Amino acid sequence: MDLNILNTSLPSPIQEFDLTASSLFSKSFRERDIRIFLKRDDLLGLEVQGTSRAFCGNKWRKLKYNLLEAAQSGHSTLLTFGGAFSNHIAAVAAAGQQFGFQTIGIIRGEQVKPLNPTLAYAKSCGMQLAFVTRSAYREKHTEAFQDSLSRKYGTFYPIPEGGTNALALKGAAELPSEIIQQLGFQPNAICVCCGTGGTLAGIIQGLEGRCQAIGYSVLKGDFMSAEVAKWLQSSQQNISGNWQIRTEAHHGGYAKYTSSLIDFINQFKLDFNIQLDPIYTGKLMYALAQEAEHFPKGSSIVAIHSGGLQGIAGFNERFGGLIKT
Ligand SMILES: *Cc1c(COP(=O)(O)O)cnc(C)c1O
Repeated sequence: MDLNILNTSLPSPIQEFDLTASSLFSKSFRERDIRIFLKRDDLLGLEVQGTSRAFCGNKWRKLKYNLLEAAQSGHSTLLTFGGAFSNHIAAVAAAGQQFGFQTIGIIRGEQVKPLNPTLAYAKSCGMQLAFVTRSAYREKHTEAFQDSLSRKYGTFYPIPEGGTNALALKGAAELPSEIIQQLGFQPNAICVCCGTGGTLAGIIQGLEGRCQAIGYSVLKGDFMSAEVAKWLQSSQQNISGNWQIRTEAHHGGYAKYTSSLIDFINQFKLDFNIQLDPIYTGKLMYALAQEAEHFPKGSSIVAIHSGGLQGIAGFNERFGGLIKT
């Protein structure tokens, strides 16, 4: 497999928001002379006809070196794990189809028929889906479970749930230099939403302290800092402490929402013609838009659009078409 094929979509565009075009960002941003940029990683990868891009966003960054490693180590099958609406599952399925890997998805929970849009798409890419109960899924890291997978599927290149491993961090670590090069200057902060925290950890690695990194957890709880610290430690690099986690951006928890979040996402689309998703990027931008006072006057802030738009169809199916597309 050729790195150049992957790199043809780099760099993803970066654009500045016209803050006069929308009332979604508090007027303190203008008063404080703060500029906000969006790094459009949602535009990475190939357009897939009739569906939202699935191999894109931070999943593209996180899979890049894993795909190369899988190919270089002679693997023809990728096996991974995820929930029924997982962006990661959709991304692995799409990447497998694009680059000629067989793919196996171990899906948490009983199969629901018909398949939801995420799983129907994964299947249409050729992914073999195996449904395991929630209790069995929790055992997926045990040796017994791993052995049973090897017996069943033979040799495969394993990718963890959410795609976070050392090679995923290496991919995400390429973002800061790409951004700084595109801007021609160093921003004051790079902001990204956090699920496992792997993308933020990679960004912190790649930043090497050049500016602040801020993660917005989409899960409820105080554990994200420890998760990110764990990833940084395992990467054995000298990491500056110039990062932090916002823990109040979750709107009730993972895949939970509030009506103000939905209104924000729909108005954002109207004002800027940019689609956000309700699980990740909507929560990031919603939180950021209220935060002018956190940033010094005259600062430049870069938010990462980490993708996730494939999840909207499934979200709308479950909750009655809340997100306008
Ligand atoms: C998976 C995902 C995330 C979370 O990334 P982590 O590296 O797990 O923190 C953020 N945004 C989108 C759109 C995602 O699909």
